[in-house]
Amino acid sequence: MDGSPKPERELAVALVAWRGPSELTGEPVFVAVGNLDRSSQVSKLGDVVQVTFMPDVPERPHVVARHRETRSVCGDCAFAPHMEGGCYVLLFRGPQAFHTTAFGRDPTPLEILGRVARRGVPIRFGMWGDPAAVPVSAYAFLLAWAKATGAGWLGYTHQWRTRPHLRAHLMASVDSPAERTEAKALGWRTYRSRWPWEPVEQGEFVCPASFEGRHRSTCAKCLQCSGTEGRGVKDPTIIRHDGKSLHEMVRVSEDPEDTRAEAARDYLARRK
Ligand code: SF4
Repeated sequence: MDGSPKPERELAVALVAWRGPSELTGEPVFVAVGNLDRSSQVSKLGDVVQVTFMPDVPERPHVVARHRETRSVCGDCAFAPHMEGGCYVLLFRGPQAFHTTAFGRDPTPLEILGRVARRGVPIRFGMWGDPAAVPVSAYAFLLAWAKATGAGWLGYTHQWRTRPHLRAHLMASVDSPAERTEAKALGWRTYRSRWPWEPVEQGEFVCPASFEGRHRSTCAKCLQCSGTEGRGVKDPTIIRHDGKSLHEMVRVSEDPEDTRAEAARDYLARRK
């Protein structure tokens, strides 16, 4: 690790909150917190502080993903590179910027807390990586601040089958109605990605920051994705935005009666 000071300009991007073994694989991971001085550039989110869970290796995130070595922070998420693939996170953007400035630094939770307090905006756990990759104590100071001040937070986990203690502050990321039923039985609120032909189920609502929700809101304003102790009661759902899968479905379907391919074609045409 390089302990030499980095330029002040870089300090604006991300700092390290915690470093230790992954709760998922035991491999080294770290928690980076960014957008400490400026707004997130992602319009769906609005202005939030971003928390990222990254492999603690010198290689940049997109290089690590290329080698399918993200299990330490992605676990068994279906969209991870070692699973089906199709993750929508652009690793060469935010995660790479966070890694570039945070990798190799010592944890500075007090400095992070001071800067988060000055920002006064909600916290999003999981710009990349699953919060279940680390113990809750790694980021509990941020969660406590978000609760105490009312600033709010957002967070998701794919590890809902094995981490029931996280349901108080995270949403169960589910990818099918059957998974949602299973997660509900375990007491979770869910965030379901669905195909364009799948209906919104009872107890669900369309994410208002989505294309199909007509971008009526941002996460920073909505704050519904905050587990059973957060602001929401019902469960949001969003059409899968890994357009690659939909394009592939349209490409391989030769059956004009294939209603799923037709729904995918229609959705992609509307999104243009
Ligand atoms: S439901 Fe609200 S908080 Fe959740 S992703 Fe959509 S806009 Fe963001």
